[in-house]
Amino acid sequence: MTERHGEIAVVGAGLAGCLLACFLARRGHPVALYERRPDPRAGTPERGRSINLALSARGLDALRRIGLDTQVMADALPMRGRMVHPVRGEPEFQSYSVSGDRAINSISRGALNNALLAAAAKLPGVRIAFDHRLVGLDPAGGEMTFETPQGTVTAHARVVLGTDGAGSAVRGQLLAHGLLTESVDFLDYGYKELTIPPLGDDFALDPGALHIWPRGTSMMIALPNPDRSFTCTLFWPTHGTASFASLGSPAAIERHFAQHYPDLPSLAPSLVDDYQHNPVGVLGTVRCDPWQVDGRVGLLGDAAHAIVPFYGQGANAAFEDVVELDRCLDECADDWAAALPLFQQRRQDNAEAIAQMALANFVEMRDKVASPIFRTRKKIEHA
Ligand code: FAD
Repeated sequence: MTERHGEIAVVGAGLAGCLLACFLARRGHPVALYERRPDPRAGTPERGRSINLALSARGLDALRRIGLDTQVMADALPMRGRMVHPVRGEPEFQSYSVSGDRAINSISRGALNNALLAAAAKLPGVRIAFDHRLVGLDPAGGEMTFETPQGTVTAHARVVLGTDGAGSAVRGQLLAHGLLTESVDFLDYGYKELTIPPLGDDFALDPGALHIWPRGTSMMIALPNPDRSFTCTLFWPTHGTASFASLGSPAAIERHFAQHYPDLPSLAPSLVDDYQHNPVGVLGTVRCDPWQVDGRVGLLGDAAHAIVPFYGQGANAAFEDVVELDRCLDECADDWAAALPLFQQRRQDNAEAIAQMALANFVEMRDKVASPIFRTRKKIEHA
């Protein structure tokens, strides 16, 4: 595909990159969207990699601005509270609001990405290059190097925006050129996905809640999917005597779940297989500074500020970034040298705040939601 004069490169066609391409094309910029993977609309999702996420008001606001909210919400499952599953006894529902009508929405991550990708592909100003993995960047000249199935190719852009996720290659290039500093704080917890299939034609659990099994040093959550299954995410230490590696045999896996998650085995027939074959994902917080260099290269979404998932706000925050950058471009009459520093100034403190809240919410979810004191306090707050 041929490059156009004055192109803006968006590297990474994930959630932030596709949304950003839509916003930039709407402003009249020619956009080249580069993605290391093949077109995800043609393939099947990777096994055990976060198939759903909670989308809340901040993310929905961004989708509304490009007219995609109704389409995306058509398949969303509203979750009006958390359902806490104790080791013994009945699950307890804790509403997210006093009125009971406020909800966060369980959305298929793949479907959301595909909807955004299709919206970007439809815009005349956007060209998309799949199978393009960025491996090199000259930040001063805007020269990019990509690995493709046909070999190495180069391309040039007026501005390069990295939306290539937590392990961002664009950020890595800026680091290699000595243009930013970064810290990546890995949590000593990882996550593994398990599946609860539909029970007959119905959901096996209440689909109107985000389910939590708080167990102190470990925790599991489950979000409903439109096909009436649930995706469970088990959070557990990555090392030590009580960790993912400590369950070495099918019998040990069955024993562990029967003891700590007794309502799960009868609902999850593929539990042992999922546990043995699904990967353990890493979790961490990425901080870097600056988020832009000379108005020529910028970072958005997880590439600039990846967070742990316990507040369900990473994608929402990435979407908010796009809305804020659009606002900065408005205010700066599309002068990138002014807009990118303004964007960082407005977003960095917010990103740090949600990073800290996400870490704090892990303690709340794995521990406090099950404590009688927490439940009493929540009732008083609601009264
Ligand atoms: P990504 O979605 O990671 O997209 C990056 C894209 O860049 C990908 O398409 C990738 O293939 C591409 N790419 C990477 N490297 C290159 C390269 N070198 N060249 C070209 N392309 C490249 N957020 C929520 O808001 N709510 C939730 O409930 C929620 N739950 C989560 C649960 C888990 C277990 C995890 C791990 C995360 C969760 N998140 C949630 C966070 C959310 O998934 C991320 O914040 C969001 O995906 C960030 O979007 P992004 O576009 O910045 O990055």
